[in-house]
Amino acid sequence: MKYSPVIGLEIHAELKTKSKMFCSSLNDPLEQHPNVNVCPICMGHPGTLPVANKEAIKMVQKVGLALNCTIVEHSKFDRKNYFYPDLPKGYQISQFDMPFCENGYLVVDDKKIRITRIHLEEDAARLMHPEGKDYSLIDFNRAGVPLMELVTEPDITTSIEARRFAEELQLILRYLGVSDANMEKGQMRAEANISIKKQNAKQLGTKVEIKNLNSFRSLERACDFEIKRQEEELEGGGEIIQETRGWHDVKQITFPQRQKEEAHGYRYFPEPDIPTLSFKKEEIEALRADIPELPAQRRIRLSEEYVISSDDTEMFVRNKDLGEFFEQSVSELGSGIPHKKLEKLIQLTANYIASDLQGLLKSKDVRGEDFLITPENFAELINLIEQGKISSAAAKEVLREMFSKGADPSHIIEEKGLTQVSNAKDLDKIVEKVISDNEDAVEDIRKGKTTVIKFLVGKVMAESKGQANPQVAEKLLSEKLSN
Ligand code: ADP
Ligand code: MG
Repeated sequence: MKYSPVIGLEIHAELKTKSKMFCSSLNDPLEQHPNVNVCPICMGHPGTLPVANKEAIKMVQKVGLALNCTIVEHSKFDRKNYFYPDLPKGYQISQFDMPFCENGYLVVDDKKIRITRIHLEEDAARLMHPEGKDYSLIDFNRAGVPLMELVTEPDITTSIEARRFAEELQLILRYLGVSDANMEKGQMRAEANISIKKQNAKQLGTKVEIKNLNSFRSLERACDFEIKRQEEELEGGGEIIQETRGWHDVKQITFPQRQKEEAHGYRYFPEPDIPTLSFKKEEIEALRADIPELPAQRRIRLSEEYVISSDDTEMFVRNKDLGEFFEQSVSELGSGIPHKKLEKLIQLTANYIASDLQGLLKSKDVRGEDFLITPENFAELINLIEQGKISSAAAKEVLREMFSKGADPSHIIEEKGLTQVSNAKDLDKIVEKVISDNEDAVEDIRKGKTTVIKFLVGKVMAESKGQANPQVAEKLLSEKLSN
């Protein structure tokens, strides 16, 4: 490869405040009816006055702290002027030269990616273009929703790294509880700036900005496509023009949208209706104290505290609620359990959450009101499985019951007669019966066809209506048949 890619990301995320950025209209992304969460301020009526939402500012500062930024002590808002139907005032209140957070970084897969700035602004309204109609509609529910914008330095060098950065940022926003950051729902939106340069060249190449990336997959694919396109362009003797391109999700290509306007086309100036803002060091430190455990810390802690696979660890980091359920269940396993046995129980807990419980959960989550399994009951189930009181098949059935009815596992086992018979004495009669009913099979085994024993185990299972412990049954059969 003669060229190395250079990528910088600009990521927007809608903040989960109660009200909008500069007025008291509700910030409710789930609102289905258009134009209900609106007021004269977010509709841009003349003579109205915006008031900055303190909650939103704190949220951005928290993000900055989580991303190792300097939180500035003095800041202001600025007007970014442009005309578009989704922008009711004809300008967006944003931040130009004094963003709330500067000079941070995020470590992604052991690589430090620098963050230039994080600022706060307001979202635009949503435009809709009904098919076959010659008009467009505007929903102002989103107009004025707090939007943070994060800009990275051009430190990213592969499409995977770009994707991983965005994924890790999404996790951090969710851990902080400041945004749901769902890309498909437009709560988090990424733009990728991409250029290529000759390997070892100091100077960066001309960049192209890709918009409309509404999934991690599109982000990764768009980077891949653009890197290749630029290489081919240069190889064919052409040159890269600085432009904005869109991503066509169906065709999986980028396409030209517009050439970069003049840098100063926005005529930024300080927002005269909002006073400048100052923050005391103590206020910022108080926010820092409020930052919860972050994904990177949790990744390390889980892998140190529990002997579980790195895949399970990653699952519990990415699905924080599931991770919490796992840890709570482990703490309910009991006390004074010998080390080796506890390790086994913990692995069983992780396995059952990763496979069976995840399968049942599908779109539900363990924090929902409709989730009926308590960590205590889950831990009990794990103990019953480990003690051989129920088979793994029965465990699945018990778990399904627990999931739909919320009962505790011993009750379900009793009610449904699912107890596994592991005691050799209790199985003896059935085993004897199976041996006398299946003379041909017994003959085969005596002649050395030992695999036929599985067939007899199956018979014992059937005879016991699934309650026999298959390992015990097999042991008993081979003891009896080797005499
Ligand atoms: P603009 O003035 O066009 O908005 P900025 O300097 O503000 O450009 O950078 C915007 C984004 O583009 C940042 O994420 C930055 O890291 C990235 N970027 C800047 N130059 C390049 C380049 N040559 N190649 C790739 N990305 C770049
Ligand atoms: Mg810029």
